Amino acid sequence: MPDIKINDFRGLKEIDVLGLMYDYKKIVSTSIPESFVRNLKNTFVKYGLKYDTVDESFDFRGQSKTYLISKETKYLKAAKRAYKLGRLDLVGRYLGYPECCVKFYYEKLKFSLSNSLLRDIYYNSNSFSWRLNNLLNFEGRTGGIKDLNLFREFTSFFKKTQAISLISHSPCSYDCRQSLKIAYLNHQYLLPYHRLPLSGYLILKNPVFYIDDFHFAIFEGYSGKNSIEYSKLLTRLGVRQFKDYLLRGDRIKIDNNSATVFRGNRILGKISSHKKILILPFDKSI
Ligand SMILES: [Zn+2]
Repeated sequence: MPDIKINDFRGLKEIDVLGLMYDYKKIVSTSIPESFVRNLKNTFVKYGLKYDTVDESFDFRGQSKTYLISKETKYLKAAKRAYKLGRLDLVGRYLGYPECCVKFYYEKLKFSLSNSLLRDIYYNSNSFSWRLNNLLNFEGRTGGIKDLNLFREFTSFFKKTQAISLISHSPCSYDCRQSLKIAYLNHQYLLPYHRLPLSGYLILKNPVFYIDDFHFAIFEGYSGKNSIEYSKLLTRLGVRQFKDYLLRGDRIKIDNNSATVFRGNRILGKISSHKKILILPFDKSI
C-alpha cells in the first residue's frame, strides 16, 4: 500500500491522486493552477511520478496546458500518442474510465456540448446512486457555457464548491456498474484522509432540481415523483431570479417545463423553463 500524504498533492483532485497511486488509473490528465505547479513538481519527484504536457492542439477542450502524470513513462508516451491521434477512447482507457462511459460521453460530444449531459445520463438510468452524482464535477462540460454572466457566476460557484464527486468521469448512467466499482474504491481510499468521514461528499446524497448543467439547485430534503420537500436550499447555480422563492420555500412541485415553489400551502412563485425540469432523486439511493 503506498504511503501518501494527500496534502503533498494540493492542486490535483484527491480521487485522481488515489486512482493513480493505487493503480486503477494509469495516467492523470489535468490542468494545474499555476500557483501549485512548483510544489507539485517536487511532489512528483518525491513519489517517483513522471509527467509531461500536451498543448491545446491535442486537447479537445482546447486547454492550453494539460499535464499528464503517471508512474510509468510508457503510459505517458502512449497517452500522448493517443491524444495526437484523436483517439480519446484510448485516452479514456489510460484514465481508468469504463469503456461504456467513454463511449457514451463521446457519442454525446459528437453532437456538441449542449449544457445537458446530465439530462442524457438521467434518461439512461434505471436507478440513481449518489456515489455517481457528478453534478458538481464540471470536467468536460464547461465548453457549453455561452452566456458571459453565467460563466462568471459559474467560476465563483466552482471555487466555492470544488469538484465534489466520487468519480472523475461522466457515467453513462447513474447505475453504471463499472462506475460504481470505481466510486466504491475512491470512497474506501478517501476515508483515511478525512477526519470526518467524507462529510463534504454527503452533499451528493440530496435531491437535485435540474434544468440544465448550469441551472440547478440542491436541497436538503426528500424527493417525490414530481416534487421535493425540503428544509434548506444547500446550493444553486443559475436560476438567479428564483433564488428568493427557493430560500423561503419548503416544497417545489414540478410539472414538465414549470415548477411551483410553496411554503406550506401558499404559493410563493413559479419558475418556467424552455426545457423539461427534472428531479434527480439522489436522496433515495442506498
Ligand atoms: Zn458506464
